[in-house]
Amino acid sequence: MKKRIFVLLLTLFAFSSVFGLITQAKNADKMLMTDANGEASNSLDRKVVSTETKKGKKSRTIELQRFYLEVTDGSAAATPVPLPNCDYTIHLAKGDRETFLDNGVTNDKGEITGLAFKDIPLTGASLKIRYSLGNEQRGYVQKYDKKPYSFVFTLRLGNENTINYSDDQVQFGKEKAEETFFYNFQAARINYYFDQGLGWHSEAVKKVNQLFPDTTEFEVKPININFEKGQYLDESNAFSRNGHDGSGVPDIVVGDRSDKIFDTNYLMHNVMHEWTHWTMYEAFEMPSGDYDSHYGTNDDPQISYKEGWALFVGDVFADIDSLKADDMLVQKDNEKGVNRLYGKSTNLTVQHVLYDLYDAGSNDEAFSISERFLDDALSEDEVKQLNFGLLSAAMIESRATTLQEFLTYLEDKYVITRSDKEKFAQVLKINGLSRNGKFSLNSDEGSPKGE
Ligand SMILES: [Zn+2]
Repeated sequence: MKKRIFVLLLTLFAFSSVFGLITQAKNADKMLMTDANGEASNSLDRKVVSTETKKGKKSRTIELQRFYLEVTDGSAAATPVPLPNCDYTIHLAKGDRETFLDNGVTNDKGEITGLAFKDIPLTGASLKIRYSLGNEQRGYVQKYDKKPYSFVFTLRLGNENTINYSDDQVQFGKEKAEETFFYNFQAARINYYFDQGLGWHSEAVKKVNQLFPDTTEFEVKPININFEKGQYLDESNAFSRNGHDGSGVPDIVVGDRSDKIFDTNYLMHNVMHEWTHWTMYEAFEMPSGDYDSHYGTNDDPQISYKEGWALFVGDVFADIDSLKADDMLVQKDNEKGVNRLYGKSTNLTVQHVLYDLYDAGSNDEAFSISERFLDDALSEDEVKQLNFGLLSAAMIESRATTLQEFLTYLEDKYVITRSDKEKFAQVLKINGLSRNGKFSLNSDEGSPKGE
C-alpha cells in the first residue's frame, strides 16, 4: 500500500516536473525518514528506458561534475543565496535503503564538484544531498537545540551518467508548515552573509600579511549563530561570552522579528558586528559592558571602543556608502544645540575615528594608515582594503581595550614621518580627541574632561 502511494506520488511528481513546476518537495520522499529542517527535490531526466539496461549491465559509475543550489523562500522580493563552505553528505537512496557515498564541504561559491560514484543502479535511484549551514572552521547557523540547520535535496537519477545540475530557486521547508520555507531561507541568508563577511575580512588581512611581514596572521575561531522562529523576538542581537543560555560556550544570537523584515544590510551588519565582539573577546578577552545608545556617553571608554569597532566592521562590510555619507557626523552632530559625539566617549565617535583612519581621499583629513608604505600605484579601493586589514591586524596585535591605547599603538608603529604625524594629529583634532588620543570632553556639553 505504502509503495503504491509512493509510486503514484512519483508519477505525479514526474508529471509536474515535465511542466517545470516543481523543485519543492512534497510527499514523494516520505519513505526516507530525515530530521532535516527542510527538504526539496527534483528529477534529473525523464527517460524511462536505460540504454545500459539493454546491454545487460547491472550498475554504472556516475560522474558528478557540478552540483549547485541557491535557496529562496519563493517570495517576489527574495534574492536567492547559495550554500558556500557548508558541510555536506551524499547518500545513494534506492527503495528505503540509503548508502553513504561522500562527504565534504562545499566550495566558496557553494558548489560540489569533481566527484564520481561507482555501483549506481541503472534505474530507480536517487542522490540525497544533505547540507548543514556552516562548517567546523567557521561555526554553524543553528536552532536553539544546538543542531545546525540541515537541508536535504533529493535528486532522482535518470539514465545520464554525468550530473551537471544547478537550481537557483530551491525552497527548503516542510509541507503544511509554510513558515519553515521563510525561516530556512533566513537561516541560509545568515549563513551566506556570515561566510561572505569572513571571506572579505580574511582577504583584507591576508593582503596586509603579504605586504607587512610584521603583522599578525588573523586566525578566526569558530562560533555558532542561533536563529529560530519566535526566539528572542524583537530583542537585540547579541554575542554572549558564556553562551545565551549560560552554557559556557560563546555564541551569537540573531533575534526573530515580528515584522519579519530582515534587510540584507541589517543581516550583514549584525552578523559581522557580533562576530567582531567575539573576535575581540577571543583574541584578548576584551571586557564586556552595556550601553544606552550609540550616541550616549560611556563612562567606561572600553565600551565605546568595543562597540565602535563592531559598528565600524559591520558598516564597512554592509553599508560603506552610509558610513561615507556620514563622514562628518562627529563634527556636525547637533541635538538641541549639543554635539553628543565630538570629543566624547561614545560608540559612534570611535566608529568614525576608525573610519577616518580607513578612508582615503576624504575631505576633512588626509591621513590613511597604509599609504606611507605602498610602493605600487593602487586604486582607492585597494588602499582602503589594506587600511582595513592593517587596522584589523593592529586591533589584535595591540590588545588595546580603549581607543587611546589603540591610537598610541598605531602611532608608534605606523606614523613615522613629520608630515604623517601632522596628518594623524588632524584625525584626532577633527574628532575632538586630545593629541594623546584621549576623549577631551565629558558628557556635559562642552566641559573639558578632568584627568
Ligand atoms: Zn555591539
